[in-house]
Amino acid sequence: MAELPFDPAAIPAALLGWYARAGRDLPWRQTRDPYRIWLSEIMLQQTGVAAVTDYYRRFLENFPTVGQLAAAPLETVIDLWAGLGYYARARNLHATARRIVKEHAETFPDQPEELMRLPGIGRSTAGAISALAFDKRAPILDGNVRRILCRLCAWREAPRSARAEQQFWRWAELLTPRRQVHDYTQAIMDLGATVCTPRAPACAACPLDRFCQARKLGLERELPLKQPAKQVPLRVEAALLLCRDDAYLVRRRPADGLLGGLWEFPTRPVPAGKTPQAQAEALLLEQGGAGPLRTLGQISHRYSHFRLELHLFHATLAGSFRIAENLRDWRSQPELKKLALHGAHKKGLKLLGG
Ligand code: SF4
Repeated sequence: MAELPFDPAAIPAALLGWYARAGRDLPWRQTRDPYRIWLSEIMLQQTGVAAVTDYYRRFLENFPTVGQLAAAPLETVIDLWAGLGYYARARNLHATARRIVKEHAETFPDQPEELMRLPGIGRSTAGAISALAFDKRAPILDGNVRRILCRLCAWREAPRSARAEQQFWRWAELLTPRRQVHDYTQAIMDLGATVCTPRAPACAACPLDRFCQARKLGLERELPLKQPAKQVPLRVEAALLLCRDDAYLVRRRPADGLLGGLWEFPTRPVPAGKTPQAQAEALLLEQGGAGPLRTLGQISHRYSHFRLELHLFHATLAGSFRIAENLRDWRSQPELKKLALHGAHKKGLKLLGG
């Protein structure tokens, strides 16, 4: 394991002074309530502050306590999450709220090890909750911290390998101070979000520039290196955008399966030997319709475990058409834009124009 190329104690000292002057005032910073901090941390995974702020307020209006969140149906939580993306977070949020009520008497544990047993809480999120709500000395390693460490230590390897993971956690532990953990944690998050940004780090304004190896070597824009893409299987599907009276037929996926609780247009897999067009025609027949199909186009979307190639077709039904009783969810285009459609179908919606 490599040593830090500077005195670890120097980093919190430099960061805390900067944070007192330049730290951000965010809605979830005015609290030490672990429920609110957890909620903001889950929302901030993979999403920026600007997009999260309204959702954070809306969730607290609807669910002021973890007990109220746990008591809500999953579908309500998913619909409120619509637009924020990465819906596994909404499902985990709901599952964790239920566990906190059932197993922890509505009280969040303060130790990272216990928090990590809850759905959707990895080591870094557990560290953040523990440090921000309880002032425990717990390191974090989110995307911001990983990038800062890559640059501070001029890490010239893939940033997400097992080796990098082990090394960065060690460095993050060494840098986390014994006191003022709460402020330090927010300070390093802020540095990554506002100064040591992915594409254009503002090194001239950085409180850590004198320690930074990437800066010394002129590599601050080169690092972190690009992580090689993970190979995932390809699925091919056909989706039917079936229109009647300016509204489209949608269905909700079962809550307990893949992309559970999210909405989509009627869809069929395209197995070897079949064409997307044939599968779309079968979908139309399945709904009791017939008539010409219009090809809308094809989109590609990457999920965590597979890549989806989605072929989209459009058909219009006459007003007298009687749809199957269990398929009566028709939504207008403005309504579809607000619906929790899963990623590929959200992209596909754009092919409709309007
Ligand atoms: S000097 Fe530049 S690259 Fe180094 S930590 Fe600061 S902002 Fe990031």
